[in-house]
Amino acid sequence: MDDREICEHLYNVKRPWFVSRVSVSDDGKRVDMYLEHERGVKWPCPLCEKLLSVSDHVKERVWRDLDSGLYKAYIHASIPRIGCPDHGKIQVKAEWSEKSSRFTERFEAHAIDALLSTDTTNASKILRISRDQTWNITDRAVKRGIARKTSSPERIGVDEKSYGKYHHYITIVYGIDNPSVDNIEFDRKKESLDKYYEKIGKDAASKIEAVSMDMWDPFIASTKSNVTDAESKIVFDRFHIMKHMNMALDDVRKIEARNADAKELLKKTKYMWLYSSENLPDRYREKYEILKESDLKTARAYAIKENLRNLWQCGTEDEARSFWKKWYNWASHSRLEPVKKVAKMIRNYLYDVLSYFKHHITNAIAEGLNSKIATVQKMAYGYSNKDHLKTAICFHCGNLQLYPGYIKNKEVSI
Ligand SMILES: [Zn+2]
Repeated sequence: MDDREICEHLYNVKRPWFVSRVSVSDDGKRVDMYLEHERGVKWPCPLCEKLLSVSDHVKERVWRDLDSGLYKAYIHASIPRIGCPDHGKIQVKAEWSEKSSRFTERFEAHAIDALLSTDTTNASKILRISRDQTWNITDRAVKRGIARKTSSPERIGVDEKSYGKYHHYITIVYGIDNPSVDNIEFDRKKESLDKYYEKIGKDAASKIEAVSMDMWDPFIASTKSNVTDAESKIVFDRFHIMKHMNMALDDVRKIEARNADAKELLKKTKYMWLYSSENLPDRYREKYEILKESDLKTARAYAIKENLRNLWQCGTEDEARSFWKKWYNWASHSRLEPVKKVAKMIRNYLYDVLSYFKHHITNAIAEGLNSKIATVQKMAYGYSNKDHLKTAICFHCGNLQLYPGYIKNKEVSI
């Protein structure tokens, strides 16, 4: 077996292609394989698959392939062009690579595996390609995955996340039933969510059954103008509502701590109050038992906050409505301004707070997804190109079919 045949075996080169020459460079640690094809072969038109003879060849191109031991491997070939009666002079498809890629499909598949396991910097070191090339592979994998999507989720969650040191925002839409990120846009404006609805199209938007979100007017407005019967489909997410309550509680604490006596009592309790009573860490337990019974305003706000959580334990919407009335009465007479303010806000949006009892969805279904996004954000921190953040989240959290045009692990021949 000569070196050309060895390469044909190692790289699974199949007729009509064959290796005509191999060159190994010790200083550059690279192996270059030159491919040619048999004469007289008919090639399928990439558009209509009609079999046609070669009319000429395009200039030789080079593709990086999987390493051969310590050596980087490159494939060289001139791709034939055929004259299709319907499509004119056209280049046939190089079976080993997607159009315009400088890598073979199996190299890209390997790169995707590396990128799924580590960050871009490490992946580019492992693969021995530049960071730009790594991003290029990531970006193409995401575009490929998006193009392969055949449907949009019917129950979605909309969330905003801040990124970077200047607190810019992204709007994330994800599927609830099969938790994965479905879309990302910059900002958190009405247009940010409009873009999602426009992308999926009117037909898919009309199939949306429920949308979980924060009480954020731009998202509400966008959903109302794009989703039929949106009023009955929006569910204000309980975790966002509780976040507003926690912020009100913290405001009460801050105001109360201006008083010297209270200040002493409230020392180092900021995070204690944010826990739900059953999740309170042991280190707070003793202090909590004392302060809970005190006449601190903060303790009162805490009791109101904790009680609100019971709203979502109600069995029916009717039950929840009567619970709400009592709770609202308590909160609105609490003489705690921040609490009253949040209570009013919830009241204004009550219809779609209680729609929870129809749809039973929350943004927390995607909790695992959120921590994954946070990890990607951490990894992507400091990237000068903000589109990279979008790409990286879709790559890791989009549940996309990222691999190039063949089924992974299938033996691919050239
Ligand atoms: Zn054709």
